[in-house]
Amino acid sequence: MQETKEFELLFSSPKNIVLTIHLNPDADALGSALGFALVLRKKGHTVSVVSPNTFPDFLKWMKGNEDVLVFDKEPELCKKVIQDAELIFSMDYSALKRVGPVGDEIAKSTAKKIIIDHHRDPEGYASLMKWSTNAGATCELVFDLLEELQWLHLLDKDAGDCIYAGIMTDTGGFRHPNTSQHIHEVVAKLLGIGVDGARVSKLIYDTNTVDRIKLLGFALSQRLKVITTHNIAYIYLSAEDLKKYNAQKGDTEGLVNYALSIKGVVMAALFKESDNMVKMSFRSVGEFSVNDFAKTNFDGGGHTNAAGGVSKTMNLQQVVEKFEKLVQTYKLELNKKS
Ligand code: 5GP
Ligand code: MN
Repeated sequence: MQETKEFELLFSSPKNIVLTIHLNPDADALGSALGFALVLRKKGHTVSVVSPNTFPDFLKWMKGNEDVLVFDKEPELCKKVIQDAELIFSMDYSALKRVGPVGDEIAKSTAKKIIIDHHRDPEGYASLMKWSTNAGATCELVFDLLEELQWLHLLDKDAGDCIYAGIMTDTGGFRHPNTSQHIHEVVAKLLGIGVDGARVSKLIYDTNTVDRIKLLGFALSQRLKVITTHNIAYIYLSAEDLKKYNAQKGDTEGLVNYALSIKGVVMAALFKESDNMVKMSFRSVGEFSVNDFAKTNFDGGGHTNAAGGVSKTMNLQQVVEKFEKLVQTYKLELNKKS
Protein backbone atom coordinates (compact mmCIF):
# COMPACT_ATOMS: atom_id res chain seq x y z
CA MET A 1 0.00 0.00 0.00
CA GLN A 2 1.16 3.49 -0.87
CA GLU A 3 0.48 4.75 2.65
CA THR A 4 2.63 1.99 4.22
CA LYS A 5 5.47 2.84 1.80
CA GLU A 6 5.28 6.46 2.87
CA PHE A 7 5.51 5.47 6.53
CA GLU A 8 8.43 3.16 5.74
CA LEU A 9 10.24 6.01 4.04
CA LEU A 10 9.49 8.32 6.93
CA PHE A 11 11.05 5.93 9.44
CA SER A 12 13.94 4.76 7.24
CA SER A 13 16.46 6.92 9.13
CA PRO A 14 16.49 7.98 12.82
CA LYS A 15 14.21 10.94 13.34
CA ASN A 16 13.38 13.46 16.02
CA ILE A 17 9.70 12.76 16.61
CA VAL A 18 7.01 14.45 18.71
CA LEU A 19 3.73 12.67 19.35
CA THR A 20 1.01 15.09 20.41
CA ILE A 21 -2.29 14.14 22.04
CA HIS A 22 -5.56 16.01 22.56
CA LEU A 23 -6.67 18.12 25.52
CA ASN A 24 -7.91 16.10 28.49
CA PRO A 25 -6.22 12.96 27.18
CA ASP A 26 -8.10 9.71 27.48
CA ALA A 27 -6.72 6.16 27.42
CA ASP A 28 -6.83 6.04 23.62
CA ALA A 29 -4.87 9.26 23.18
CA LEU A 30 -2.27 8.49 25.83
CA GLY A 31 -2.13 4.76 25.11
CA SER A 32 -1.68 5.21 21.36
CA ALA A 33 1.12 7.74 21.89
CA LEU A 34 2.97 5.86 24.64
CA GLY A 35 2.60 2.48 22.93
CA PHE A 36 3.81 3.88 19.60
CA ALA A 37 6.65 5.78 21.32
CA LEU A 38 7.99 2.57 22.90
CA VAL A 39 8.17 0.90 19.49
CA LEU A 40 9.62 3.92 17.68
CA ARG A 41 12.41 4.18 20.26
CA LYS A 42 13.31 0.54 19.63
CA LYS A 43 13.72 1.52 15.97
CA GLY A 44 16.26 4.16 17.00
CA HIS A 45 14.09 7.27 16.85
CA THR A 46 14.09 10.00 19.47
CA VAL A 47 10.54 10.42 20.68
CA SER A 48 8.77 12.88 22.98
CA VAL A 49 5.11 12.86 23.88
CA VAL A 50 3.48 16.27 24.38
CA SER A 51 0.07 16.72 26.00
CA PRO A 52 -1.72 20.08 26.31
CA ASN A 53 -2.72 19.30 29.93
CA THR A 54 -2.51 16.56 32.53
CA PHE A 55 -4.29 13.22 32.41
CA PRO A 56 -6.24 11.29 35.05
CA ASP A 57 -4.53 9.22 37.75
CA PHE A 58 -6.09 6.01 36.44
CA LEU A 59 -3.78 6.27 33.40
CA LYS A 60 -0.63 6.79 35.42
CA TRP A 61 0.44 3.16 35.19
CA MET A 62 1.22 3.32 31.46
CA LYS A 63 4.92 2.89 30.73
CA GLY A 64 6.51 6.25 29.99
CA ASN A 65 3.63 8.30 31.40
CA GLU A 66 5.95 10.16 33.79
CA ASP A 67 8.01 11.44 30.83
CA VAL A 68 5.05 13.03 29.03
CA LEU A 69 5.67 16.75 28.58
CA VAL A 70 2.66 18.76 29.69
CA PHE A 71 2.30 22.07 27.88
CA ASP A 72 0.42 23.96 30.56
CA LYS A 73 3.10 23.00 33.09
CA GLU A 74 6.20 23.47 30.94
CA PRO A 75 5.24 25.63 27.95
CA GLU A 76 8.75 26.75 27.02
CA LEU A 77 10.18 23.24 27.04
CA CYS A 78 7.23 21.96 24.98
CA LYS A 79 7.64 24.78 22.45
CA LYS A 80 11.33 23.96 22.06
CA VAL A 81 10.68 20.23 21.64
CA ILE A 82 8.03 20.94 18.99
CA GLN A 83 10.31 23.42 17.24
CA ASP A 84 13.12 20.86 17.07
CA ALA A 85 10.92 18.04 15.75
CA GLU A 86 11.30 16.61 12.27
CA LEU A 87 8.02 14.72 12.48
CA ILE A 88 4.96 15.79 14.46
CA PHE A 89 2.17 13.27 14.94
CA SER A 90 -1.40 14.06 15.90
CA MET A 91 -2.55 11.05 17.88
CA ASP A 92 -6.31 10.58 18.38
CA TYR A 93 -7.26 14.00 17.05
CA SER A 94 -7.25 15.70 13.67
CA ALA A 95 -8.21 19.32 14.30
CA LEU A 96 -5.63 21.70 15.75
CA LYS A 97 -8.12 23.35 18.10
CA ARG A 98 -8.29 20.01 19.93
CA VAL A 99 -4.80 20.67 21.31
CA GLY A 100 -5.30 24.26 22.49
CA PRO A 101 -2.06 26.27 22.50
CA VAL A 102 -0.08 23.24 21.26
CA GLY A 103 -1.93 23.73 17.97
CA ASP A 104 -0.30 27.14 17.42
CA GLU A 105 3.14 25.60 17.87
CA ILE A 106 2.33 22.79 15.45
CA ALA A 107 1.01 25.27 12.89
CA LYS A 108 4.24 27.30 13.18
CA SER A 109 6.53 24.29 12.78
CA THR A 110 8.03 23.28 9.46
CA ALA A 111 8.13 19.60 10.51
CA LYS A 112 6.23 17.01 8.53
CA LYS A 113 2.79 16.53 10.10
CA ILE A 114 1.15 13.14 10.34
CA ILE A 115 -2.31 12.26 11.66
CA ILE A 116 -3.20 8.91 13.21
CA ASP A 117 -6.85 9.16 14.14
CA HIS A 118 -10.42 7.90 13.86
CA HIS A 119 -12.41 11.12 14.38
CA ARG A 120 -14.57 12.60 11.67
CA ASP A 121 -13.68 15.57 9.46
CA PRO A 122 -9.86 15.70 9.67
CA GLU A 123 -8.32 19.07 8.88
CA GLY A 124 -5.91 19.39 5.98
CA TYR A 125 -2.72 20.28 7.87
CA ALA A 126 -1.10 16.81 7.66
CA SER A 127 0.79 15.51 4.65
CA LEU A 128 0.28 11.89 5.67
CA MET A 129 -2.57 10.19 7.51
CA LYS A 130 -3.37 6.82 8.98
CA TRP A 131 -7.01 7.68 9.41
CA SER A 132 -10.27 5.79 9.39
CA THR A 133 -13.62 6.34 11.07
CA ASN A 134 -14.10 2.58 10.81
CA ALA A 135 -11.46 2.13 13.48
CA GLY A 136 -12.85 1.84 16.98
CA ALA A 137 -9.75 3.40 18.47
CA THR A 138 -6.57 5.18 17.45
CA CYS A 139 -4.77 2.36 19.28
CA GLU A 140 -6.26 -0.05 16.74
CA LEU A 141 -4.80 2.07 13.92
CA VAL A 142 -1.39 2.09 15.61
CA PHE A 143 -1.53 -1.70 15.86
CA ASP A 144 -2.52 -1.95 12.17
CA LEU A 145 0.32 0.35 11.18
CA LEU A 146 2.84 -1.69 13.18
CA GLU A 147 1.55 -4.84 11.48
CA GLU A 148 1.77 -3.25 8.02
CA LEU A 149 5.33 -2.12 8.75
CA GLN A 150 6.11 -5.66 10.00
CA TRP A 151 7.14 -4.25 13.35
CA LEU A 152 4.85 -6.32 15.56
CA HIS A 153 7.86 -8.16 17.00
CA LEU A 154 8.83 -4.82 18.54
CA LEU A 155 5.53 -4.48 20.37
CA ASP A 156 6.26 -5.73 23.87
CA LYS A 157 3.87 -6.28 26.77
CA ASP A 158 4.26 -2.74 28.13
CA ALA A 159 3.40 -1.18 24.78
CA GLY A 160 0.68 -3.79 24.29
CA ASP A 161 -0.91 -2.81 27.62
CA CYS A 162 -1.13 0.81 26.41
CA ILE A 163 -2.70 -0.24 23.10
CA TYR A 164 -5.14 -2.59 24.82
CA ALA A 165 -6.24 0.18 27.21
CA GLY A 166 -7.16 2.52 24.34
CA ILE A 167 -9.12 -0.18 22.53
CA MET A 168 -10.92 -1.30 25.66
CA THR A 169 -12.03 2.20 26.67
CA ASP A 170 -12.93 3.55 23.21
CA THR A 171 -15.18 0.53 22.63
CA GLY A 172 -16.77 1.08 26.05
CA GLY A 173 -15.35 -2.21 27.30
CA PHE A 174 -16.07 -4.01 23.99
CA ARG A 175 -19.75 -3.05 24.08
CA HIS A 176 -20.17 -0.27 21.49
CA PRO A 177 -20.96 -1.02 17.82
CA ASN A 178 -17.36 -0.10 16.91
CA THR A 179 -16.30 -3.43 18.48
CA SER A 180 -15.59 -5.09 15.16
CA GLN A 181 -14.33 -8.52 14.26
CA HIS A 182 -11.04 -6.86 13.40
CA ILE A 183 -10.76 -5.25 16.81
CA HIS A 184 -11.26 -8.65 18.46
CA GLU A 185 -8.52 -10.04 16.21
CA VAL A 186 -6.20 -7.23 17.27
CA VAL A 187 -7.01 -7.88 20.92
CA ALA A 188 -6.39 -11.60 20.47
CA LYS A 189 -2.92 -10.79 19.15
CA LEU A 190 -2.31 -8.45 22.09
CA LEU A 191 -3.24 -11.20 24.53
CA GLY A 192 -0.84 -13.39 22.56
CA ILE A 193 2.08 -11.12 23.44
CA GLY A 194 1.23 -11.29 27.12
CA VAL A 195 -1.19 -8.41 27.68
CA ASP A 196 -3.31 -9.10 30.76
CA GLY A 197 -6.70 -7.62 29.87
CA ALA A 198 -8.18 -8.16 33.32
CA ARG A 199 -5.30 -6.28 34.93
CA VAL A 200 -5.60 -3.33 32.53
CA SER A 201 -9.36 -3.28 33.12
CA LYS A 202 -8.87 -3.23 36.88
CA LEU A 203 -6.28 -0.44 36.65
CA ILE A 204 -8.62 1.74 34.62
CA TYR A 205 -12.11 0.97 35.85
CA ASP A 206 -11.66 -0.23 39.41
CA THR A 207 -9.39 2.30 41.05
CA ASN A 208 -12.09 4.73 42.16
CA THR A 209 -11.74 7.01 45.12
CA VAL A 210 -14.60 7.16 47.62
CA ASP A 211 -15.16 10.79 46.55
CA ARG A 212 -15.64 9.71 42.95
CA ILE A 213 -18.24 7.12 43.85
CA LYS A 214 -20.05 9.66 46.03
CA LEU A 215 -19.98 12.18 43.18
CA LEU A 216 -21.55 9.53 40.96
CA GLY A 217 -24.29 8.97 43.54
CA PHE A 218 -24.91 12.71 43.82
CA ALA A 219 -24.96 13.24 40.05
CA LEU A 220 -27.45 10.43 39.51
CA SER A 221 -29.74 11.36 42.37
CA GLN A 222 -29.59 15.18 42.19
CA ARG A 223 -28.35 16.27 38.80
CA LEU A 224 -29.96 13.91 36.30
CA LYS A 225 -32.80 15.14 34.16
CA VAL A 226 -34.78 12.89 31.84
CA ILE A 227 -37.01 14.27 29.09
CA THR A 228 -38.98 11.18 28.19
CA THR A 229 -40.97 12.90 25.41
CA HIS A 230 -37.70 13.45 23.53
CA ASN A 231 -35.78 10.34 24.62
CA ILE A 232 -33.13 12.46 26.24
CA ALA A 233 -31.31 12.37 29.55
CA TYR A 234 -28.64 14.71 30.78
CA ILE A 235 -26.53 15.38 33.84
CA TYR A 236 -25.17 18.78 34.82
CA LEU A 237 -22.48 19.53 37.38
CA SER A 238 -21.46 22.97 38.56
CA ALA A 239 -17.96 23.90 39.68
CA GLU A 240 -19.36 23.99 43.22
CA ASP A 241 -20.74 20.43 42.91
CA LEU A 242 -17.37 19.22 41.70
CA LYS A 243 -15.56 21.00 44.50
CA LYS A 244 -17.88 19.51 47.11
CA TYR A 245 -16.80 16.03 46.02
CA ASN A 246 -13.17 17.00 45.60
CA ALA A 247 -13.42 16.00 41.91
CA GLN A 248 -10.15 15.14 40.23
CA LYS A 249 -9.32 14.95 36.56
CA GLY A 250 -11.16 12.02 34.99
CA ASP A 251 -13.69 11.65 37.81
CA THR A 252 -16.63 12.42 35.51
CA GLU A 253 -15.41 10.17 32.71
CA GLY A 254 -18.08 7.60 31.86
CA LEU A 255 -20.76 9.46 33.82
CA VAL A 256 -22.69 10.33 30.65
CA ASN A 257 -23.09 6.62 29.92
CA TYR A 258 -25.35 6.22 32.96
CA ALA A 259 -27.75 8.70 31.39
CA LEU A 260 -27.54 6.82 28.09
CA SER A 261 -28.19 3.49 29.80
CA ILE A 262 -31.75 4.50 30.71
CA LYS A 263 -34.28 2.52 28.72
CA GLY A 264 -35.53 4.45 25.70
CA VAL A 265 -32.88 7.19 25.84
CA VAL A 266 -31.48 8.00 22.40
CA MET A 267 -29.20 10.90 23.30
CA ALA A 268 -27.47 11.64 26.58
CA ALA A 269 -25.39 14.60 27.63
CA LEU A 270 -23.13 15.69 30.44
CA PHE A 271 -22.52 19.38 31.11
CA LYS A 272 -19.69 20.19 33.40
CA GLU A 273 -18.46 23.56 34.59
CA SER A 274 -14.71 23.78 35.02
CA ASP A 275 -11.92 26.33 34.52
CA ASN A 276 -14.41 29.04 33.51
CA MET A 277 -15.85 26.99 30.70
CA VAL A 278 -18.51 24.39 30.19
CA LYS A 279 -17.36 21.03 28.89
CA MET A 280 -19.96 18.91 27.16
CA SER A 281 -20.11 15.21 26.40
CA PHE A 282 -22.74 13.77 24.10
CA ARG A 283 -23.59 10.13 23.52
CA SER A 284 -26.24 8.46 21.37
CA VAL A 285 -27.49 5.09 20.29
CA GLY A 286 -28.42 4.23 16.72
CA GLU A 287 -28.44 6.68 13.86
CA PHE A 288 -28.73 9.93 15.75
CA SER A 289 -25.38 11.63 15.15
CA VAL A 290 -24.05 13.50 18.15
CA ASN A 291 -21.07 14.44 15.98
CA ASP A 292 -23.41 16.49 13.80
CA PHE A 293 -25.34 17.75 16.82
CA ALA A 294 -22.19 18.91 18.62
CA LYS A 295 -20.65 20.36 15.48
CA THR A 296 -23.73 22.32 14.43
CA ASN A 297 -24.70 23.65 17.83
CA PHE A 298 -21.70 23.66 20.12
CA ASP A 299 -18.65 23.98 17.89
CA GLY A 300 -17.62 20.46 18.89
CA GLY A 301 -17.47 17.06 17.23
CA GLY A 302 -16.19 13.50 17.59
CA HIS A 303 -17.92 10.37 16.35
CA THR A 304 -21.49 9.46 15.39
CA ASN A 305 -22.30 8.06 18.85
CA ALA A 306 -19.78 9.92 21.03
CA ALA A 307 -18.88 13.55 20.75
CA GLY A 308 -17.89 16.53 22.82
CA GLY A 309 -17.87 20.27 22.84
CA VAL A 310 -16.91 23.23 24.94
CA SER A 311 -18.30 26.71 25.56
CA LYS A 312 -16.21 29.57 26.84
CA THR A 313 -18.93 32.18 26.41
CA MET A 314 -22.00 30.63 28.02
CA ASN A 315 -22.29 29.58 31.66
CA LEU A 316 -23.66 26.23 32.77
CA GLN A 317 -27.24 27.42 33.03
CA GLN A 318 -27.13 29.05 29.61
CA VAL A 319 -25.70 25.91 28.01
CA VAL A 320 -28.39 23.74 29.60
CA GLU A 321 -31.11 26.18 28.50
CA LYS A 322 -29.76 26.21 24.95
CA PHE A 323 -29.65 22.41 24.94
CA GLU A 324 -33.22 22.06 26.22
CA LYS A 325 -34.47 24.51 23.60
CA LEU A 326 -32.48 22.85 20.85
CA VAL A 327 -33.72 19.35 21.48
CA GLN A 328 -37.23 20.53 20.64
CA THR A 329 -36.07 20.94 17.05
CA TYR A 330 -34.63 17.43 16.99
CA LYS A 331 -37.76 15.75 18.31
CA LEU A 332 -38.47 13.81 15.12
CA GLU A 333 -34.97 12.37 14.80
CA LEU A 334 -34.87 11.54 18.49
CA ASN A 335 -38.13 9.69 18.33
CA LYS A 336 -37.02 7.57 15.39
CA LYS A 337 -36.56 4.12 16.88
CA SER A 338 -33.55 2.30 15.59
P1 5GP B 1 -15.70 12.93 25.65
O1 5GP B 1 -17.15 13.20 25.79
O2 5GP B 1 -15.33 11.57 26.15
O3 5GP B 1 -14.85 14.05 26.16
O4 5GP B 1 -15.44 12.90 24.09
C1 5GP B 1 -16.14 12.08 23.22
C2 5GP B 1 -15.51 12.13 21.85
O5 5GP B 1 -15.64 13.42 21.27
C3 5GP B 1 -14.02 11.84 21.90
O6 5GP B 1 -13.72 11.06 20.79
C4 5GP B 1 -13.38 13.19 21.82
O7 5GP B 1 -12.14 13.14 21.20
C5 5GP B 1 -14.38 14.02 21.04
N1 5GP B 1 -14.44 15.37 21.59
C6 5GP B 1 -14.55 15.72 22.88
N2 5GP B 1 -14.60 17.06 23.04
C7 5GP B 1 -14.53 17.58 21.79
C8 5GP B 1 -14.49 18.94 21.29
O8 5GP B 1 -14.58 19.93 22.01
N3 5GP B 1 -14.39 19.06 19.93
C9 5GP B 1 -14.32 17.97 19.10
N4 5GP B 1 -14.21 18.19 17.79
N5 5GP B 1 -14.31 16.71 19.55
C10 5GP B 1 -14.42 16.50 20.87
MN1 MN C 1 -10.04 7.58 20.34
